[in-house]
Amino acid sequence: MGAHRSTPACTPHPSVNLSKPVTPKVPFLGPARPISGRLSISEVRWWLGVALPQTGSIFVLSAPSGAGKSTLAKRLVAETPGLIFSISFTTRPPRPGEVHGREYFFVDDATFDQMIAEEGLLEWVQVYANRYGTGKAWLREQLAQGVDILLDIETVGAMNVKKALPEAVMIFLLPPSAQVLAQRLRGRGDTDDAQIALRMAHARHEMEQAFHYDHLVVNDDQETAYRGMEAIVLAERARRARMESTARQILQTFN
Ligand code: ADP
Ligand code: 5GP
Repeated sequence: MGAHRSTPACTPHPSVNLSKPVTPKVPFLGPARPISGRLSISEVRWWLGVALPQTGSIFVLSAPSGAGKSTLAKRLVAETPGLIFSISFTTRPPRPGEVHGREYFFVDDATFDQMIAEEGLLEWVQVYANRYGTGKAWLREQLAQGVDILLDIETVGAMNVKKALPEAVMIFLLPPSAQVLAQRLRGRGDTDDAQIALRMAHARHEMEQAFHYDHLVVNDDQETAYRGMEAIVLAERARRARMESTARQILQTFN
């Protein structure tokens, strides 16, 4: 996977579409099966259509703009073999330097509508005039190959992923304080005072969502924060459910 998408030019607005929870119907797999309560790993695999004994994990990373998410996520993907960025579908036009199939799959409104109608998106949101969504088929293909996937998505979409796939590992990156967040936004030099005020207001709203995530990492000292995120990925990979077949293979060598 190449370069990750650049830092958003504008923060997603709180008025993102909240009315599209994920539904469990998977057309290519037959009839819908209702999701009720927590799903077991085997049910999640069924839902994703992955019949392989071992599949990758999904990590969802959210943070208020300026918290350091891109900096840490890029390093995590670069330094963790077998971890790739999710490539979302979007109706927004590519920015200079962005490549179809690398930062995003850039599609038109009709294609996005069709994906929604066919329930091909795990989750999607509208941010101002643009829509963004995670493709089920793409995700399924990657997971089937055993790679882990990092979804860098905003909080509304993140919560819908968690509803659909409770096994997803949810990570929220916090700035150490509002003051430091404002400093980082200013230090990045891509925002004026009005934009910073808008981002800070939205950041507060997003920070409230942190309590719904599984892991909270404070990005004060960058190295410490990085090690915290890396530890989450490595701990997930060491789970018995993921390691069981490896352990059995090792056990066989004792025969
Ligand atoms: P996000 O992707 O969350 O919007 P960035 O990764 O672009 O944030 O980081 C925002 C700014 O803060 C960048 O200038 C980055 O270099 C800086 N930064 C990130 N982490 C730290 C840190 N732990 N300490 C100081 N500055 C940081
Ligand atoms: P940008 O247009 O700047 O690339 O992204 C705008 C916002 O959309 C960012 O906060 C980014 O995390 C979010 N985003 C990108 N892809 C997806 C997606 O597939 N689903 C959701 N829910 N948000 C996304």
